Amino acid sequence: MNRYVIKNCKLIPELTEGTGLSEADVLIEEDRIADIAEVGTVFEDISETIDVGHATLMPGLIDAHVHLRWLEESSWVTDVRPSWRSFDEYHYARFMLENGYTTVRDCGDDKCLASEAVRDAEKAGYIEGPRVICAGPTLLPANLNTFPCRQFHHVIAGRDNVRALVRDNICYGADFIKLYGSGSLMTEGNDPNIKIIEEDEIDEVVKIATSRGTYCAIHAHGSEAIDAAVRNGVRTIEHASFITEETLQRLEGRTDMGIVPTVGILHNLTKHGKGSYVDNEDRRVKTIRQVYECIGNAYHNHNVLIGWGTDIALDSYEENPYIEIQTRKNELGFSNIDILKQMTINSAKLLCLDNEIGTVKIGKCADFVVIDGNPAEDIAAMYKKPVHVIRKGRVIY
Ligand SMILES: [Zn+2]
Repeated sequence: MNRYVIKNCKLIPELTEGTGLSEADVLIEEDRIADIAEVGTVFEDISETIDVGHATLMPGLIDAHVHLRWLEESSWVTDVRPSWRSFDEYHYARFMLENGYTTVRDCGDDKCLASEAVRDAEKAGYIEGPRVICAGPTLLPANLNTFPCRQFHHVIAGRDNVRALVRDNICYGADFIKLYGSGSLMTEGNDPNIKIIEEDEIDEVVKIATSRGTYCAIHAHGSEAIDAAVRNGVRTIEHASFITEETLQRLEGRTDMGIVPTVGILHNLTKHGKGSYVDNEDRRVKTIRQVYECIGNAYHNHNVLIGWGTDIALDSYEENPYIEIQTRKNELGFSNIDILKQMTINSAKLLCLDNEIGTVKIGKCADFVVIDGNPAEDIAAMYKKPVHVIRKGRVIY
């Protein structure tokens, strides 16, 4: 049996449950946290001791909004052989794991279901990767100027059609349903403010997803789409760029729904010039300011569940894996501890996985990052690779 101890761990109280210890030795059995004990506790029958020398032991990080198929900007629409896709997507998944993300939620794959293959191979122990939560192909209403790439999306039209496609996605292995509610910031010809879906369609998705024991996530920038999604019980509002005061009041104090902002990617808007909503400098500057204001308002003035999402292509992620942290910290003024909670327990709650991950607690899955320094005091401790990453009790490095 895999039974070992991680010694001399500094713990962050807000990310730890069931113990008041600020330093501890943590016992791992197979893929579980078996004990959180005082430093120096003697455990019998252990195979190994890893002394982390007062580094911080945190729950593994969660990115609630990635697309493993976004290997580089150009791959959005490139026709890659389906058999290649899984290898490529594993490359992205592995990068995430090495940067401390032990769970990633893929918010839209293409129809060859490569992220499902990565998920299943990791689950079966064939590969080392993060836990992957999969949407499968997204559901996109056909609309003027909303270009449906048939490789990536199911084009939806009406309640009955939506019902069939949600069932289809779940049957083929989707863990949740991803829906498009508004136009995009970066897609040619799109207006992110425009609501592109009907309420009866959202209602149907939520109903069928709920009846199958799962939930719906929606791409929604504009306030009208966000509001319709909240009214109809969508669990996670992705981007939520222009969320209004009125909608925030509806979300106040709720634990069954929340938002997953993706603000770090706004630094990339210049890459998406031609034909996009942010085609010119004025519009770009104004848009970024507006998003910062709306998400800042959600954080500073409301009690709303906020998760962690990045939504960037792998090449941008590799350029700066910390852009989302830096943006939330420097541009939006989020506190260190709230950023850390968003990257762990808040996202675990939104993904309905808080019984399994998100805090250091006896019985939970042994997914950890060990950080040199104390990121609750200085967030810059997160701006480098973790000292160790542990997934399902297995030490990755
Ligand atoms: Zn996305």
